[in-house]
Amino acid sequence: MAIERTLSIIKPDATEKNNVGGILQVIEKSGLRIVAMRRMHLTTAQAGGFYEVHKERPFFGELVEFMTRNPVVVSVLEGEDAVAKYREVMGATDPSKAADGTIRKLFAKDIGENSVHGSDSLENAKREIGFFFAEADLL
Ligand code: ADP
Ligand code: MG
Repeated sequence: MAIERTLSIIKPDATEKNNVGGILQVIEKSGLRIVAMRRMHLTTAQAGGFYEVHKERPFFGELVEFMTRNPVVVSVLEGEDAVAKYREVMGATDPSKAADGTIRKLFAKDIGENSVHGSDSLENAKREIGFFFAEADLL
């Protein structure tokens, strides 16, 4: 185990419903620390670039449209085993399969509009953090 950083995005469905504070509370209660945070409205180019790995998947167009529909809150979370830990705190991609107490179980509607993103590996976390933040932003 080691101290890691991971990228979180609170998605448009959650900002629309004023669930930002509720989600941040679950994150902080889990022990993860928010070391950088910004609210922003993603452009199509930004959302497409961020989700580049999914560009061949059938839901890619829908995903980019959703992610650019309204503002998101991007943040960097730090803590012991942060990448795996935040995946646990988020819950399964499909909220109907997510465990009790997870963010997706508490706040999300369906597999597309599932309220949060979290990096899935340390390598992807580094790339995703660099997509939105400079090293000097992480405090
Ligand atoms: P996760 O966000 O749990 O890592 P994936 O990387 O598989 O999940 O997918 C990225 C995002 O694409 C999901 O969080 C969700 O917003 C969207 N998505 C995934 N599967 C579907 C689907 N079958 N239909 C619509 N959107 C989907
Ligand atoms: Mg993923």
